[in-house]
Amino acid sequence: MSYRAPLADMLFTMRHAARLDEGVTQGIYADLADGAAEALLAEAAKFAENRLAPLNRAGDLHGAKLADGVVTTAPGWKEAYAQWVEGGWNAVTAAPDYGGMGLPHLINAACTEMWNAANMAFSLCPLLGFGAIDAVEAHASEELKAIYLAKMVSGEWTATMNLTEPSAGSDLNAMRSRAERQADGSYRIFGQKIFITYGEHDLTENIVHLVLARLPDAPAGTRGISLFLVPKFLVNADGSVGARNDVKCAGVEHKLGIHASPTCTMVYGDDGGATGWLIGQENKGLACMFTMMNSARLSVGLQGVAISERATQHALAYARERKQGRAPNSTTQGMDAIIHHPDVKRMMMTMRSMTDAARAICYTTAGALDRSHRESDAAARKQAGERNALLTPVAKAFSTDIGNEVTSIGVQTHGGMGFVEETGAAQYMRDARIAGIYEGTNGIQAIDLVTRKLPLSGGATVRAEIADMRGTVETLRGTNAPVLAELAAPLGECVEALSRATDFMLNALGHAQADALAGAAPYLRLFGLARGGASLAAIALAAHREMADGDKDPAHAARIASARFFALNIATGAGGLERSVTQGAASVNETDCLLA
Ligand SMILES: Cc1cc2nc3c(=O)[nH]c(=O)nc-3n(C[C@H](O)[C@H](O)[C@H](O)COP(=O)(O)OP(=O)(O)OC[C@H]3O[C@@H](n4cnc5c(N)ncnc54)[C@H](O)[C@@H]3O)c2cc1C
Repeated sequence: MSYRAPLADMLFTMRHAARLDEGVTQGIYADLADGAAEALLAEAAKFAENRLAPLNRAGDLHGAKLADGVVTTAPGWKEAYAQWVEGGWNAVTAAPDYGGMGLPHLINAACTEMWNAANMAFSLCPLLGFGAIDAVEAHASEELKAIYLAKMVSGEWTATMNLTEPSAGSDLNAMRSRAERQADGSYRIFGQKIFITYGEHDLTENIVHLVLARLPDAPAGTRGISLFLVPKFLVNADGSVGARNDVKCAGVEHKLGIHASPTCTMVYGDDGGATGWLIGQENKGLACMFTMMNSARLSVGLQGVAISERATQHALAYARERKQGRAPNSTTQGMDAIIHHPDVKRMMMTMRSMTDAARAICYTTAGALDRSHRESDAAARKQAGERNALLTPVAKAFSTDIGNEVTSIGVQTHGGMGFVEETGAAQYMRDARIAGIYEGTNGIQAIDLVTRKLPLSGGATVRAEIADMRGTVETLRGTNAPVLAELAAPLGECVEALSRATDFMLNALGHAQADALAGAAPYLRLFGLARGGASLAAIALAAHREMADGDKDPAHAARIASARFFALNIATGAGGLERSVTQGAASVNETDCLLA
């Protein structure tokens, strides 16, 4: 079964979880008024469904091939990429000064979901490019921007992110790549980077590598890292592509999923040094790279949503077709479609509601990012920026964790056919696996949430988020619709569990760091359950209001069903997670007897 973009649900989530309607009224989203968002997303959906989705299986089967230092992408990739550039899809959020459309991140979030649901291995290339554009736009000199940015924005040249080395993954302190100053203001770069996504390919005539390296006199650790722009081909004064730079691809990984995305070992400076230019200031490279990584972390969270949506659509179609056994109270002759069995319904609803919750979290995070730039009041911009910072690790890790769970349930729904490759369900599971690992593993996201994000504004940012969730629970309590009022108790318990776990964490951070770190992963999961459950409830309340106003759209009942299932079956895990956070630390940290 092919992919169909769930446009109506995506828009409903944008309007009622990410506050699109309110933003249009306030003028924050003036550029999305009068059906502009709907029109753009409908066009994006066509490209995702008709151009990218049909290449997904072929990409998985063919992969990307390296021969004599040249990487050849899967059949059809090159043509699709040319159409991607021609359609302007690379330029949605970038600044108009460099040819971008300057549209909100919320729109790009919805597009990113569609691109990645259709074809994650293809879409990973532009995903990283968006982050690189952000970093160059924010930190590079005007001269570098003039040479590179317009071509990066259009997609004529792709970009890569080069952090990882054999001994430096999560911990960049151990990074060894080095840079030497040159008399003309450029730098010579030497070193090896591993796992570089689209480090080499045949899609474009040039590739812009953003590379972290150390200067000879740099301070030790991450305070001594600088960021450099290193093109595959040097650029002539007239903007044309010139001589080959001293950077080459020495290998392409064989891996579990996203086969068509070349994961490259890159060697810089084997032949005298690769020419590079500094982005930002010397030794401040990590801060510049964080501009790129923050954008990419939300996008990777959206990959989790995307692959979950694709797997859910696939599993639902199979469950409606496949006949086995007789469902309780069946009146049909012979076997029933498996979707009528309560256990299969449970699997379907788990997939549906977890996907919906992750989407709501990611879109809310994108909305906060927009508001951090677009609010007219400086205090409101700061508040939105902190909200975005708080939610980004949750968006990344919760959504990619559920990506693994949902795609695995998708395989389960297919029975034995899920385990063989022909149905495609297995590819989603294999592709989904990486998203919890790259862009900072989900363990690192949980640590970021607890140690850096909870303390923002002395804890006021997280408390405001919890107050927002409590507001939705209060609205549920006051509603006259029994099906929604029923959600107030389980969601209220979930939010209060998060509140108590947050108090525990803020307290532990001061004097028992190891306890806080031991509970970081269950804390992030609890945060996702509470934020996701409250956002789904807000969507359900809006759906109920529209039904009461006479809107007969059957999708409203499905939105209420998703929120209800999540509150009564998924958010109910909150109590156990709270206990893991507040009482589980010793059982984690006092395990030397087991691990010795
Ligand atoms: C397909 C693919 C594409 C990639 N693309 C890129 C790319 O384009 N650019 C790039 O630079 N990199 C890329 N990477 C690298 C990726 O970002 C790293 O693999 C990731 O950051 C983890 O680093 P590592 O593999 O060294 O694992 P490690 O850092 O060795 O981690 C191993 C385990 O230990 C845990 N751990 C490590 N340190 C801590 C700590 N302090 N506290 C708690 N737990 C910890 C981790 O969470 C993880 O579970 C890619 C990797 C893959 C597989």
